[in-house]
Amino acid sequence: MVKFTGYQCSICGEQYGPDETISVCLNDAGNLDLVLEVEGIRKLSSPDQISASQEGSMWRYLPLLPVDDPGYPNTALRAVGWTPLLKANRLGAELGLGELWLKDDGRNPTASFKDRASAVVVARAREIGVETVVTASTGNAGAALAGMAAAAGLPAVILAPRTAPQAKVAQLLIFGARVMLVEGSYDDAFDLSLKASKAFGWYCRNTGYNPFTAEGKKTAAYEICEQLTPARSAATWAAPQAVFVSVGDGNIITGLHKGFKDLLELGWIERMPRLYGVQSSGSAAVANAYRAGSSTIEPVRAVTLADSIAVDLPRDGIRALRAARETGGAIFTVEDQAILSAIQALGREAVFAEPAGAASYAGVVQAVEEGLIGSGEQVVAVITGSGLKDVPAAMRAAGEALIIEPTLEALRAALG
Ligand SMILES: *Cc1c(COP(=O)(O)O)cnc(C)c1O
Ligand SMILES: [Zn+2]
Repeated sequence: MVKFTGYQCSICGEQYGPDETISVCLNDAGNLDLVLEVEGIRKLSSPDQISASQEGSMWRYLPLLPVDDPGYPNTALRAVGWTPLLKANRLGAELGLGELWLKDDGRNPTASFKDRASAVVVARAREIGVETVVTASTGNAGAALAGMAAAAGLPAVILAPRTAPQAKVAQLLIFGARVMLVEGSYDDAFDLSLKASKAFGWYCRNTGYNPFTAEGKKTAAYEICEQLTPARSAATWAAPQAVFVSVGDGNIITGLHKGFKDLLELGWIERMPRLYGVQSSGSAAVANAYRAGSSTIEPVRAVTLADSIAVDLPRDGIRALRAARETGGAIFTVEDQAILSAIQALGREAVFAEPAGAASYAGVVQAVEEGLIGSGEQVVAVITGSGLKDVPAAMRAAGEALIIEPTLEALRAALG
């Protein structure tokens, strides 16, 4: 059953066959889009058929994915996605929005959105028979690859900056990957991973490099639409008006764009949501290009507490710009202080986000202030990672707890 027919360069349009094992375009190193067999998929599947699926994971969308069923039933690999879409009634009302929804992707097996990409990459790795997978990572992509590789019994090597948060490094080690912390930035780790995959024949998962990552990430767009649809047997799904997500390399927003485009092309949704990418003002390479009206990305020296989106040279920036421009959205920045406030605000909806995960909500707040979204609109903020990933950042947002003697008087005094 042919579901994808090849690759197309997102810059020069060059086409490559489905059996090629390249990662980026041979002419210009452009990111490759996977070309799906849309007609075939339309015959094979439908919204009501998928909504009837018992598969409580992203694998319910297998007919729309460019891999075959990977197997590994009842493993972490099969537990990725189908994360809760929570209605944030209080925050939404305060902002004057029609509806505000939080897609809590911190609730994935390794606690970040990256599991979606790594699950599809590991499925692909098994199909093409590779022996070792590698990725550069600020932490989450590595944890996700290490976790998914563990579920599939596949050796993994992870290269992360030495400054990665401790919880993420612990995950890498616990999932049994070979972990190397490099004396340098994420971008240094990225360059090293490319050299290493060439030298040792490893299969490279890098975000914005491996074309299959966006195919995994697109499943969140499918889920948002399916979950917003009230009737379980609807012929079409419901798309929100605007979706907010944080941007580092720009691969998540690219994946979401791909997902909504797939659904639109299939006729399964009726409108394209406006996609808003949110960067930290300290790591704003894509937002700078957006503001300048440019289509080329100039690197920055990234400094932000939101480590998952600290990227000097975004590897999927051009497609990220397109995701915003082609949908009538935008890419803009928020201050780190606003990200800390967003962590605290999300807590009131029982969502615990790491800084990069909360940045999307900080973006919603700012977009309301700037009039980018209107009152009454239906808005989704994607929460891309769990707060347990970076407890020191959470403590900076929350402040310290009171410490008291174990007496009623002390408690009464403290309650003040
Ligand atoms: C990787 C990551 C992002 C950013 O995704 P990009 O594809 O790099 O833009 C945002 N939030 C979290 C928690 C991440 O791990
Ligand atoms: Zn090209």
